[in-house]
Amino acid sequence: MRDQGRILFALDGKSGLELARRVRPQLILLDVEMRGMDGFAVCRRITADPDLQNSPVIFVTAQSGADSEIAGLAAGAVDFISKPLNASVVQARVRTHLRLQAALNRLQSQANRDGLTGLYNRRYFDHRYAEEFARHRRHGEALGVALIDVDHFKLYNDHYGHQLGDGCLQDVARTLETGTRRPDEVVARYGGEEFVVLLPHTGADELDQYGEWICQRVAELEIPHAASPSGPNVSISIGLSSMRPRDGGTLEQLLGLADQALYRAKAGGRGRHAVVLPEKADGREG
Ligand code: GH3
Ligand code: MG
Ligand code: MG
Repeated sequence: MRDQGRILFALDGKSGLELARRVRPQLILLDVEMRGMDGFAVCRRITADPDLQNSPVIFVTAQSGADSEIAGLAAGAVDFISKPLNASVVQARVRTHLRLQAALNRLQSQANRDGLTGLYNRRYFDHRYAEEFARHRRHGEALGVALIDVDHFKLYNDHYGHQLGDGCLQDVARTLETGTRRPDEVVARYGGEEFVVLLPHTGADELDQYGEWICQRVAELEIPHAASPSGPNVSISIGLSSMRPRDGGTLEQLLGLADQALYRAKAGGRGRHAVVLPEKADGREG
């Protein structure tokens, strides 16, 4: 079985769980009878752990009989193999589950991505946004959000055609993605020619700098836009906001403020950013 991957061992349930959480294995072979915690309990912990969702469990055990097999599967295992073991059977089942898991991982990551740009899609963003909002509330920290919209993009399509339009969106998307500063920032395609960036641990004082920087990076692409009334090249407008969820307010409100800010950036001439903050709705422009 060694030719199918690296194999790590743990001798009891507790150290097995610790090891699994550290390395997040592609597959876990688990015995039922162990010192301390029994295998069923370990399996339940594994399947309840969101970080181990992609680590399926196969029971390999001396216990046989329908009852323990049912208990194993009920605890969340994907398969149950009784001893005495036939090496070829174990190998074949391991291969099958590795293949299934790999296919599932591929599907999962595709389901989270936008087909055109490869960025995360709105579904994934909504999920992460809710998670991060709750996390920032727990920690009493500020969460920032940036809504980005390509300027006069309808005119771009009309002038250059939809295909070049798609290419332009891909270029802007890549620029946004390579512009992430921290690993937990989430850049997503929000829909059409709109993008959204989730900015963890980002207070009001950092928003101007981020907005200006991203506008600048897109300007530096120098993608010609001969039909644009606001300049020779493709530009973006950005609306930013930030709040401390613990001070009150909802995630819909935070996104609503960023949307108001985006509207201001557009009304102020495009190719710029604007910030609208929770308390005073007067905001500022850059
Ligand atoms: P504004 O500066 O006010 O944002 O003007 P706009 O023309 O960008 O705004 P509007 O919302 O009127 O137009 C958005 C355009 O984006 C219209 C639509 O055809 C185009 N679009 C949306 N999704 C795609 C896409 O996937 N590919 C291409 N090529 N165009 C798209
Ligand atoms: Mg738009
Ligand atoms: Mg637009």
